[in-house]
Amino acid sequence: MSELVKVIGGGLAGCECALQLLKAGFAVKMYEMRPMKNTGAHSTDRLAELVCSNSLKSEEPTTASGLLKEELNLLGCELLPLAAGSKVPSGSALAVDREKFSELVENALQSYDNFELVREEVMELDSTPTVIATGPLTSEAMAKIVGEISGKKRLFFYDAIAPIVAADSIDYDKAYFGGRYGKGGEDYLNLPMQRDEYEAFYNALVEAQTVVLHDFEKSEL
Ligand SMILES: Cc1cc2nc3c(=O)[nH]c(=O)nc-3n(C[C@H](O)[C@H](O)[C@H](O)COP(=O)(O)OP(=O)(O)OC[C@H]3O[C@@H](n4cnc5c(N)ncnc54)[C@H](O)[C@@H]3O)c2cc1C
Repeated sequence: MSELVKVIGGGLAGCECALQLLKAGFAVKMYEMRPMKNTGAHSTDRLAELVCSNSLKSEEPTTASGLLKEELNLLGCELLPLAAGSKVPSGSALAVDREKFSELVENALQSYDNFELVREEVMELDSTPTVIATGPLTSEAMAKIVGEISGKKRLFFYDAIAPIVAADSIDYDKAYFGGRYGKGGEDYLNLPMQRDEYEAFYNALVEAQTVVLHDFEKSEL
């Protein structure tokens, strides 16, 4: 019988880890707390949900993120080919249809007989070999355990969130579709501005009403 490894967290890291373990012949029991308990940033119960941008950035090996992808592919990364299989047009970047991506990841995991998914928040560890992959929005109980193991009382994560612009708020007489840096098709919607227009836009943006922060986003400094 295959040795069992617990993977806590069904995000990007947990899914890659589980697929690597399954490929190497281990049995995997994955614990994912969604949808019973949500994180505040995830909006579905899907595995490997991309919480913000759907772009995994450049595929060009002359850029840092492109080189990293080349290296990941050489190392047998499991998620990148699935990202390629759910690619949407975005010039030289690798952007994905997030629902299709999650579906491909779930199918890949479920294709192994010795994979089990448990929808449950893990609040304590036992002696089973375990990978903690609970991400930046680790639940309180698990953050406490990680704090005890690492000897750090608190760990913090700060990030910006990509704004989403409603398509019907755009004046298409002024905006136009085009490529980026002459690569790919007409994949991006461009909003051209003169310098004074850009400066007015910038000032309006930085002075605009901002979103109300979630509790987990409040500054701890
Ligand atoms: C608001 C926000 C915006 C972000 N924007 C970007 C971006 O644009 N680009 C980018 O590259 N990265 C972004 N990130 C970082 C992003 O979270 C990571 O890139 C990526 O999702 C990390 O993958 P992960 O597997 O480590 O964590 P996640 O994808 O978050 O997966 C962790 C999983 O663990 C589960 N979990 C947590 N605690 C428990 C528990 N106790 N028991 C069981 N399950 C548990 C969660 O439900 C979650 O599904 C953003 C993060 C946040 C919070």
